Amino acid sequence: MCIEIETRSEEETKRVGEALGQVLQPPDLVCIYGDLGAGKTVFIKGIARALDVDEREITSASFVIIAEHEGKYPFYHIDLYRLSDETDVSQLGLEDYLDGCAVAAVEWPEFLKDWTCSFEVTIQITENDKRKITIVGDQQRIEEIKRWLMEI
Ligand code: ADP
Ligand code: MG
Repeated sequence: MCIEIETRSEEETKRVGEALGQVLQPPDLVCIYGDLGAGKTVFIKGIARALDVDEREITSASFVIIAEHEGKYPFYHIDLYRLSDETDVSQLGLEDYLDGCAVAAVEWPEFLKDWTCSFEVTIQITENDKRKITIVGDQQRIEEIKRWLMEI
């Protein structure tokens, strides 16, 4: 099942991330697609809020590929932008991080060929500050996200 939402500001995108964050639990993996500057990191700040992680800890990684945060659950922010096609993602040991006890959100998940995402989020820039956000996931939790979106 799928929801499509249009946001008009960074804050609105964070709120959508927060609504998704409310329904996450280990071992969920959220895969976030979108061009550079689309708002993937902003969206993850919203997820962090819902998981009781200080959103200021979530940064656009310059070197770090995996950042670990402590909140309601261990939360991993994985940014694969700096990988090249030649990098073998299986050599990174990512599975050690996704051992079933954590929630993870991945930017540039295109590199995770064989992984199953619990939710697939796509962010498209429509004009200036507008974004079209699509979330695909299981029906029950998509319904729950819709309810959160009305509250947040
Ligand atoms: P990405 O991680 O996808 O490369 P970032 O989240 O780092 O992108 O940056 C998104 C940029 O777009 C930020 O500077 C943010 O302020 C800006 N922005 C403008 N409008 C929006 C919106 N509606 N949603 C998200 N970000 C927005
Ligand atoms: Mg980013």
